Amino acid sequence: MRLLSALALGALVLPLAARARDPRSYAQPDQVVVTHLDLGLQVDFARRQLRGQATLTLDWKNPKATDLVLDTRDLKIARVEAVDANGATRALRYALAPADKQLGSKLTIQTPRRPHEIRIAYATSPRASGLQWLAPAQTADKKQPFMFSQSESIQARSWVPLQDSPAIRFTYAARVTAPRGVRVLMSAPNDPKHPLDGRFRFDQTHPIPSYLLAIAAGDIDVRETGPRSAVYAEPSVVGKAAHEFEDTEKMIATAEKLYGPYRWGRYDLLVLPPSFPFGGMENPNMTFATPTVLVGDKSLVSVVAHELAHSWSGNLVTAASWRDIWLNEGITTYVQGRITEALYGKRQADEETLLAIRALQKKIGSMPANAQRLAPEPRAIDADDALSDVAYDKGSWFLRTLEQRFGRRDFDAYLESYFDHFAWHSITTEQMLAFMKPNLIDKYPGKMRWDEVKDWVYGTGIPADAPIPDSPRFDAIDKERTAFLAGTLPATALDAKGWNTQEWMYFLDRLPDVPPLAKLQQLDAAWHLTGTPNAEIGMRWYVHAIAAGDKAAWPAAAEHMTRIGRLYLTLPLYAAFTRTPDGLAYAEQVYARAKAGYHPLTQHAVEALIAKAKQKGGS
Ligand SMILES: [Zn+2]
Repeated sequence: MRLLSALALGALVLPLAARARDPRSYAQPDQVVVTHLDLGLQVDFARRQLRGQATLTLDWKNPKATDLVLDTRDLKIARVEAVDANGATRALRYALAPADKQLGSKLTIQTPRRPHEIRIAYATSPRASGLQWLAPAQTADKKQPFMFSQSESIQARSWVPLQDSPAIRFTYAARVTAPRGVRVLMSAPNDPKHPLDGRFRFDQTHPIPSYLLAIAAGDIDVRETGPRSAVYAEPSVVGKAAHEFEDTEKMIATAEKLYGPYRWGRYDLLVLPPSFPFGGMENPNMTFATPTVLVGDKSLVSVVAHELAHSWSGNLVTAASWRDIWLNEGITTYVQGRITEALYGKRQADEETLLAIRALQKKIGSMPANAQRLAPEPRAIDADDALSDVAYDKGSWFLRTLEQRFGRRDFDAYLESYFDHFAWHSITTEQMLAFMKPNLIDKYPGKMRWDEVKDWVYGTGIPADAPIPDSPRFDAIDKERTAFLAGTLPATALDAKGWNTQEWMYFLDRLPDVPPLAKLQQLDAAWHLTGTPNAEIGMRWYVHAIAAGDKAAWPAAAEHMTRIGRLYLTLPLYAAFTRTPDGLAYAEQVYARAKAGYHPLTQHAVEALIAKAKQKGGS
């Protein structure tokens, strides 16, 4: 590996944050920490339920502790017992507190003898917030039911009773049974040749935080894409997915060249049905991905670069609390850009960066001050709220600024040493800064002042001298858009034949919020945007069409909203509709049809948005 870090590793011995209290969890890691989880689960599609038992191995920190407190949400607890060294069990008393809307139910187990292991027999609710159960009709192939988890941020507690905080790491093993013919996958090494005999076993030997626990089961086929990578998806999707993601091994090798070895063994991808609420989820060994990136030309595969980058920033070095989530997402978005640049060229990487920068510049000024900070003041932050564009795009902008000041050679070496130093630990922003000061800022004096660093991390807005990449292609698009809007360039004369996905996104992103209806109609007649199969372009197009009052686009917008449950691609259309009474009524009709196919998180977000719009409308 090049540039092996000659930095003063270990010069700074930091207290790791595993003992700090996380406001999003009832766990008391100052008393006891879970070090291993052993799951025995049955996948029951008929009841939409996982049921079985979780055995937790405990490391008692307080020799006088009398209770074990766990996080749960909507779990039915059948019994709790202590397990002794010989495997003998004895029942324990426990109390499940009434549910808190955000945190779920605190499970307090009386453990005056501080057992080494405890076992909980339980079942999940059909409405578990971290699981989605799809009927066969909601899948691509319509033959078998499908289920998958999404544990980040604090939904793991809805399918496993545990200490649900990113500060606490544990290894896990699982035995899962399912109907024959169904494939079960988890966030652990998976064997592409595993028979579909209904019995699966998993071993995650690296300590992971709870939000990286993941499971999926369904009619899932597999194609190998490299010596340590494969793509999993429904049979009718797997070929297309394997083609779109054929560069996966090259991506892994690129990331390794930059930041040191990939430490997890296999890197596989699971393409989920379109209701998956996110673009991708970096479940260890098995990224879960949306099918909306399968556009045929690899223009949206940066989602894989992103989830793969999490194998270093996020999964290897983890933010200790949701307030510190920019450590996961900002660094990952930066690394994603580096992988994209190495594989697809600087033009592609710069365009993706510029799209993010322009979007952030447009909205950051109107956000609450605390939400503009990379490391917000730790008060009243909802775990999911913390996952905003600021964590991703201001975070990566900070890293690009550091790269520009210190130069690639020294900054790459620094970042590799950061991953090495904190490997397999969960850390706070302050621990990251305490490492950065001697190993980067003070080591290369005169490149960046410490108060500049603090302004990036704790300040609001974007520092005025933040570097912005050049893009002659985007500049040309700006000129064309201006001329088109001014009426000096007809829609048919736009030089859009060669525009890639990012260039269309950029053109549409910078249209006026409410464009003139006639202009949109000209655009559509020339370029047939209504009905586009590319959901990134579609989302932007429909938002503008709805804002402009183009009712002819409504049915196609409704089709997009019904087909896709990915929050980022669907929620903006609902938001656009709710701005007028007609639109709000239409959005409610669309939601009534689409709801059954949406993930619980998407349902929750859409319902909250509609309720807010109705409140505003006074009805
Ligand atoms: Zn991410």
